[in-house]
Amino acid sequence: MDSSCIFCKIIQGDIKAKILYQDDLVVGIEDINPQAPVHLLLIPKKHIPTPLDIKEEDQEILKNIFLAAKKIAAAKNIGESGYRMVLNCNEGAGQSVFHIHFHLLGGRKMGWPPG
Ligand code: AMP
Ligand code: ZN
Repeated sequence: MDSSCIFCKIIQGDIKAKILYQDDLVVGIEDINPQAPVHLLLIPKKHIPTPLDIKEEDQEILKNIFLAAKKIAAAKNIGESGYRMVLNCNEGAGQSVFHIHFHLLGGRKMGWPPG
């Protein structure tokens, strides 16, 4: 828990968010500024600032994130049409909240290369 972190505050319930998924290690919330018809953030409950801070002991968290994505994709009907998961590491890659999160995007055709 980092008291200055917006995602920690959401996880603590101090800031409101639309929570669409939850297990013991991970929450899934609706992104406040959606970039696709389906745009969730899968966020570890543990405060990990950037992907560079991920440790061996965090593997259960990462497993839960990918299994949650699969379940949410099925529930939102974007499994067959396709979805994208994005993890931005540091400002140069577009990270703006320094508590790691995977974007789960779907419901429209995705372009490549990403911007
Ligand atoms: P990134 O730029 O990869 O760090 O992604 C941060 C994401 O968090 C952006 O897509 C924001 O729209 C989203 N975001 C920021 N604040 C909130 C919030 N309070 N509730 C939901 N999503 C948020
Ligand atoms: Zn945090």
